[in-house]
Amino acid sequence: RLYNQVQDLKGNIRVYCRVRPFLPGKPSSFSTIGNIEDGTITILTHSKNGKEGRKVFTFNKVFGPAATQGEVFSDTQPLIRSVLDGYNVCIFAYGQTGSGKTHTMSGPRELTDESMGVNYRALNDLFLLSKQRKDSASYDIYVQMIEIYNEQVRDLLVIDGSNKRVEIRNSSQNGVNVPEANLVPVSSTSDVIHLMNIGQRNRAVSATALNDRSSRSHSCLTVHVHGKELASGTITRGCMHLVDLAGSERVDKSEVVGERLKEAQHINKSLSALGDVISSLAQKNSHVPYRNSKLTQLLQDSLGGQAKTLMFVHISPDPESLGETISTLKFAERVS
Ligand code: ADP
Ligand code: MG
Repeated sequence: RLYNQVQDLKGNIRVYCRVRPFLPGKPSSFSTIGNIEDGTITILTHSKNGKEGRKVFTFNKVFGPAATQGEVFSDTQPLIRSVLDGYNVCIFAYGQTGSGKTHTMSGPRELTDESMGVNYRALNDLFLLSKQRKDSASYDIYVQMIEIYNEQVRDLLVIDGSNKRVEIRNSSQNGVNVPEANLVPVSSTSDVIHLMNIGQRNRAVSATALNDRSSRSHSCLTVHVHGKELASGTITRGCMHLVDLAGSERVDKSEVVGERLKEAQHINKSLSALGDVISSLAQKNSHVPYRNSKLTQLLQDSLGGQAKTLMFVHISPDPESLGETISTLKFAERVS
């Protein structure tokens, strides 16, 4: 309840910044990360002539390099509850390739209870909360997993590794949905781990052919919650999109051609479409430009209105990433 009151005051969009640690074997003499205090982060800039500068950015929260997966998730828990109450929720991971998006959403390759990312923790909480409410309500939970690559949507939950293209539909009865993508009932964390492995494998198949395609596509795990209040018979429908976005790095147009240039243009277009939608919602504009990309079309029901949005923006402490770090933080400020 307290959370909802806070949300009402601040709007339904929250932006958290997460800084990843230096990677083992790749230490650096210099970090671009200065002071982190509650919601502010200072970025240390070094210009070519050696002049030092600093830029301060403000968000709802900043997680430093030592933050654990549990700490990062803990503020997300109220959103999970609202999905059971019939609200729609979007959680995004934004940032350049290598900044920690997949680490936040899924976790490292070898999963442990501690290292599990937001996706698993969110579903775990859904299972736990729905069990706690079992005397007053019943819930069925389903997941879909799709990928958006070059403005084409693919089902990732296919067993045979086929390249199954699917379409986003919008009907007055069902709202926005992807009816052709497999919708799989889940009731335990092991169900979810199994499905995520299938989805990840299907992304990886194309990765070898196209050279790490996973960083150039958006993947979206969608959780549908069908609820029924036992006393009143009231039906609720909540949905949560957990989105690992394509890498936000700008590619130098003079250096890329052909397929790679096309990918870059599609990513650019869809990330700026997302930024445009979220910032026009944050500014309470009457026109929200959902139609400009597949990503924003897919999420139309879950961005704005009563829906709740959480964006994790990821940055790296590496000096060579400074340019991308600044542009990531500027994007994030624009949407918050
Ligand atoms: P992205 O998905 O943005 O390309 P990854 O999540 O794959 O980035 O992270 C890049 C590398 O950094 C991976 O080896 C990952 O395990 C590691 N990493 C990212 N964030 C963290 C973190 N918070 N703590 C420890 N390692 C991390
Ligand atoms: Mg990734």
